Amino acid sequence: MSSSSSKEEKKRKLENGGSDEPSPKKTQVEDLASRISEARKSLCSSVADFKFNKKRVKVLSKSEDIPNECDGIVYWMSRDQRVQDNWAFLYAQKLALKLEVPLHVCFCLVPKFLEATIRHFTFMLEGLKEVEKECTELGISFHLLIGHAKDRLPQFVAENKIGGVVTDFSPLRVPMAWVDDVGKALPKNIPFCQVDAHNLVPCWEASPKLEYGARTIRNKIHNQLAGYLTEFPPVCKHKHTAPDSKSVDWAAAYASLEVDLSVKPVDWAKPGSSHGIKMLESFCKDRLKDFATDRNNPNKNALSNLSPWIHFGQLSAQRCILTVRQYKAKHKESVDAYIEEAVIRRELGDNFCYYNKKYDSIEGAYDWAKKTLQDHEKDKRDHVYTREQLERGKTHDPLWNAAQNQMVLEGKMHGFLRMYWAKKILEWTPSPSEALSYSIYLNDKYSLDGRDPNGYVGCMWSICGIHDQGWAERAVFGKIRYMNYQGCKRKFDVTKFEMRYRKQTTEK
Ligand SMILES: Cc1cc2nc3c(=O)[nH]c(=O)nc-3n(C[C@H](O)[C@H](O)[C@H](O)COP(=O)(O)OP(=O)(O)OC[C@H]3O[C@@H](n4cnc5c(N)ncnc54)[C@H](O)[C@@H]3O)c2cc1C
Repeated sequence: MSSSSSKEEKKRKLENGGSDEPSPKKTQVEDLASRISEARKSLCSSVADFKFNKKRVKVLSKSEDIPNECDGIVYWMSRDQRVQDNWAFLYAQKLALKLEVPLHVCFCLVPKFLEATIRHFTFMLEGLKEVEKECTELGISFHLLIGHAKDRLPQFVAENKIGGVVTDFSPLRVPMAWVDDVGKALPKNIPFCQVDAHNLVPCWEASPKLEYGARTIRNKIHNQLAGYLTEFPPVCKHKHTAPDSKSVDWAAAYASLEVDLSVKPVDWAKPGSSHGIKMLESFCKDRLKDFATDRNNPNKNALSNLSPWIHFGQLSAQRCILTVRQYKAKHKESVDAYIEEAVIRRELGDNFCYYNKKYDSIEGAYDWAKKTLQDHEKDKRDHVYTREQLERGKTHDPLWNAAQNQMVLEGKMHGFLRMYWAKKILEWTPSPSEALSYSIYLNDKYSLDGRDPNGYVGCMWSICGIHDQGWAERAVFGKIRYMNYQGCKRKFDVTKFEMRYRKQTTEK
């Protein structure tokens, strides 16, 4: 490299906050999706040539060796519903390329999942349609298997002479049980492994134990980040295609659902990875500059709004970080704040659910929190509401009602108000355990990003002091951190927000 080009390189790196990523300024003519695609291709043409970090992979089966004679590899897609920027997908393709066999992607569609409604299932199925299209273009077969994985996957493996199964990772109880059941049902000679494609640092590598809070996990993650926060190789055109791949019957998929149809899909969040990338692009261009200063103001449009796509795995959090950090020279404080939220806080959520099986119960709280809540369980409440009153946004507090209405209408409540909202549920219900179950129920039913480790941790933080400390003791809350209306008034124009969301319908 000549000295002038190395000077240029230094300048670029400096502008770029020390990152090796190309500065967005240089390539602004192209959209983000094209820039990302170029970045992948410039790393390598195929994952076959990429040194895969094996720490991302956990072998779940006794057998590690793929049988000599096999006709394919399966990626059982579950939490990470995207083709590109998906370490589990990439690992499955690497195996299939090595064996020179077809790659199949299977998604098992259950008729219902926790409190998910048609709002969530539509977001998911429409996103999966994009996955099917991309797979087809790449010569990879996509199968939507209707039913539980334990009933459908072993049969698929036998019928298609599959030599190995790769899946992704979720720390939640139900998907963990699915993985366990599939592990038991697969033939013993078929290797079955799991790749954490959701976290930047795999959950089991970030920490081997339940962490107390952000301050105890922060350095553990930052110290390992360099080894994981790399560009992704592309999922490439697969040369070994499966014979007679049928396209998915999406109408049958929708017909198989047994979910609440009254909670409708929302307009602002368009499903699918490509829309996720567009939202990421608009965040970087329009909102990131205000993230550090305005993210706690519900009247300002300063948030990334990416959580629905991240939750459904339509967007990789690692891709978000790789993209956002390119703006470090321009918006250092915002970039740092985003990394703290989207890496440290988010991955702390997975740590909590993975190592604490009681992640959605008062039993899962710290002893000090359980004691203080118990000490104050019988305290007089000034207001007590039923779950139905809360659901309909019928409390005496117009700000709380407005926040609830925002969630019902838009499938997302502003992050600052989520804390206030859950804390008031503690204040207005007969017991902390009812408060916790109401908040989880409502969040899971209406929030597009609900049923997520972050949701359980958010409710547990607000109601049971998880990842927090004890505060001055007061009625009902005990030592759990308190929030009130006056405090909100000091932070933002509460009336403006209340006026905007005063009804649960779109007519104003
Ligand atoms: C009561 C309550 C319930 C919550 N329920 C959910 C939920 O169901 N699903 C969900 O994804 N998040 C939940 N959160 C966490 C947080 O409020 C959301 O992640 C955030 O509002 C998502 O919006 P955004 O993508 O615009 O976030 P931004 O403010 O733009 O933040 C960027 C990213 O950082 C992560 N993040 C931000 N805040 C937190 C946090 N407190 N904990 C963990 N990760 C965080 C998210 O991945 C988010 O997309 C909840 C918080 C509380 C207090």
